[in-house]
Amino acid sequence: MYGLIVIGAGPGGYTAALEAAKRGIKTAVIEKRQPGGTCLNRGCIPTKVLLHSAELMEELSSANGYGVEAGDMALRPGRLKERQEEVQETLRQGIIGLFKRNKVDFIQGEGMVLDAGHVQVRNGGKAGENRILETERILIAAGARPARPPIPGAELPGVVTSDELLERPFLKENSLLIIGGGVIGVEFASAFQRLGIQVTIVEALDRVLAGMDKEISQSVRMLLKKKGVEIHTSAAVESLSAGSERRIACRFREKEACLEREADCVLIAAGRRPSLEGLIQEGAGVKTENGRILVDSRCETSVPGIYAIGDITGGIQLAHAASAQAVRAVAAMMGETVSGSANVIPSCVYTSPEIAAVGITVDQAKEQGIEAVSAKYPMSANGKTVIGGGERGFIRVVAEKRTGKVLGAQMMCGRATDMISIFTMAVSLRLTLSQMASVVYPHPTYAEGIREAVRLCMEKYKKEK
Ligand code: FAD
Repeated sequence: MYGLIVIGAGPGGYTAALEAAKRGIKTAVIEKRQPGGTCLNRGCIPTKVLLHSAELMEELSSANGYGVEAGDMALRPGRLKERQEEVQETLRQGIIGLFKRNKVDFIQGEGMVLDAGHVQVRNGGKAGENRILETERILIAAGARPARPPIPGAELPGVVTSDELLERPFLKENSLLIIGGGVIGVEFASAFQRLGIQVTIVEALDRVLAGMDKEISQSVRMLLKKKGVEIHTSAAVESLSAGSERRIACRFREKEACLEREADCVLIAAGRRPSLEGLIQEGAGVKTENGRILVDSRCETSVPGIYAIGDITGGIQLAHAASAQAVRAVAAMMGETVSGSANVIPSCVYTSPEIAAVGITVDQAKEQGIEAVSAKYPMSANGKTVIGGGERGFIRVVAEKRTGKVLGAQMMCGRATDMISIFTMAVSLRLTLSQMASVVYPHPTYAEGIREAVRLCMEKYKKEK
């Protein structure tokens, strides 16, 4: 009899299992593929390995301007793929080691919730073997998978989702058309463009990165276009078909015009859907809506004792959101209340320069009826950015007009994805502008831009108060 059975060993599932085991709960994790989930095997990690090589390529190609003779440069796709696998294997072994050290049973197989106290494992252990495990609690962390919108021709060879693109050898093609200009689409565009591939983005909404601040969308569009990425927005894809020379033709309507572009490969990056198939036995009573599991603020489902976290709940689809929910769910199982700061989730886009945001934007403050002040610091005035020859970028701070408390920040600059944690802490702990400005920031660093943005915002706050 287990105290907790977790289904899915992604960032949500493995964090929950380790957290529960450390609290003395006898825990098992069932995983049908590999430990690490989407994040480690088909998401965050392989994409960032690719982006890291793209970054190196970009740096080396401009090295001459920095007084460094880089010599002949050549891309080795085979080595890039090997490196991706090495990184993934190192991290997978890390998770397996943590399971062992914390006495978490790792069970390879497909889990199905039968009721609040029982989970069936198919193909667990020996091939073909089915087992029913007894448990006090269940946590479902089964993730999501890429959506495939019903576009005629989407089944053609060469039309892939991010899972398939990352599984095959990199860089077989010279051109890539990406359907969807959200975070995943834009990150792939940024990586492949830097690796020398001709990239086209076709986005249905009126801007790329539509979930982010408008100024970030505009800047990212400008930068990608400057680097040669073709971007079509307000563009509805009508069909995919066989094009010339084994390419795929994509027909789409952009405003009034009907356009067609051809590419060696088409990536569908049009969102991700929770994967519920075969996960919960009918009649178990777990409520779902539009294919996602419904949970309360304690991550508990409609059935007491059955919890769900991460992408399967259809909320913010980010690895760190899943891990934060894991900690919250285990605390809830132990009867503890969790602080609201776990709700402050930063989001990052690993482009060049990087993009990161947390809390609310000025527009969102308006929509919520909050009087806010905001200030933007251009990173062209930041020493570290100038040294690195960084692209135009900025840091914007949003604060409450009445109290000066920091409500949010949006940044587009070098190391933005690391620096956003400073603002995440400020928003979570409800720090004021003057508290943030009182901290000493080392010189020369990108982080000095934070101090300058905060100071600018503080001046405005004092004037407008
Ligand atoms: P998952 O990581 O999807 O793990 C679920 C696990 O459950 C899987 O291993 C699956 O095999 C297993 N499973 C499913 N059903 C069963 C079953 N019945 N029995 C047993 N096992 C089962 N997020 C970020 O924060 N940063 C990024 O940079 C980032 N980049 C991304 C790039 C791409 C291309 C993609 C696709 C995603 C990216 N994400 C990123 C999102 C991130 O990967 C997910 O939000 C995160 O992995 C969700 O974690 P999870 O634990 O909910 O589910």
